Amino acid sequence: MKVRFWGVRGSIPTPNAEYMQYGGNTPCIEIRATNNTLLILEAGTGIRKLGKKLMDQAYLPHGGINILISHHHWDHIQGFPFFEPAFHDKHKIFVFGAPQTDYRIHTIMEGQMAYPYFPVSLDQMRAKIRFAELKKDCTQVADSLIQTFPLNHPQGANGFRIEADGKIFAYASDTEHRAGQIDKNIVALARDADFLVYDCTYTPEEYERKKGWGHSTYREGLAIAHEAGVGRFGVFHHDPEHDDAFMDRIASEVGALSEHALVTREGMEIEL
Ligand SMILES: [Zn+2]
Ligand SMILES: [Zn+2]
Repeated sequence: MKVRFWGVRGSIPTPNAEYMQYGGNTPCIEIRATNNTLLILEAGTGIRKLGKKLMDQAYLPHGGINILISHHHWDHIQGFPFFEPAFHDKHKIFVFGAPQTDYRIHTIMEGQMAYPYFPVSLDQMRAKIRFAELKKDCTQVADSLIQTFPLNHPQGANGFRIEADGKIFAYASDTEHRAGQIDKNIVALARDADFLVYDCTYTPEEYERKKGWGHSTYREGLAIAHEAGVGRFGVFHHDPEHDDAFMDRIASEVGALSEHALVTREGMEIEL
């Protein structure tokens, strides 16, 4: 299984020179679960560049394009109107939304492109696009098995556990830990995972001023990683206030706590 990061920034893009080392695009992760299966986690602004890449036939897997959306906050959907494969009729795109929600994923994606927010409507996209909600327990998508777990986030969000080809990738962003206790849902999500990507928006000091905002810290994430026995831990959903110099400091703090931890950045590729 191969994991490639196209957007690692949380909340809002940061297209500024002092952010370029880690990257300014909002969440998008490409997962090659097997040679034939492409999963795209989140449609933040990072998906635009991935879409360009997928226009190259050699880069496009036979199994089509599967996009998984954890929740409907802007930073996780705002790149979709700029996803080039969606405009070409030769492409098949499956968009999966969260299971427990008041809104259907189709309505959400249509809504953000509706008049007067965007000049092109969803039905002008020429690809064969299908929308569906993930099941509450397990959904088989091409060659991979996907489990969803509810996260602690304003208006809700979902974590994903993806199993394919004998590997496990765990994803928990956006989520806030609960004081003094380890989140059992995320421990289950990440149990024995080869790689856990976790919401580390705040430093432990910043978190004290941001309680209830729906995000967590690397310290809490590493405690979960330890409890769940994960192989590698990825710091993700970087705060838009954290420029490269700040992120370098986080990288050394995290590195001092665990040799298995890394700070994700745009363009980073990890083979599991
Ligand atoms: Zn977010
Ligand atoms: Zn969110």
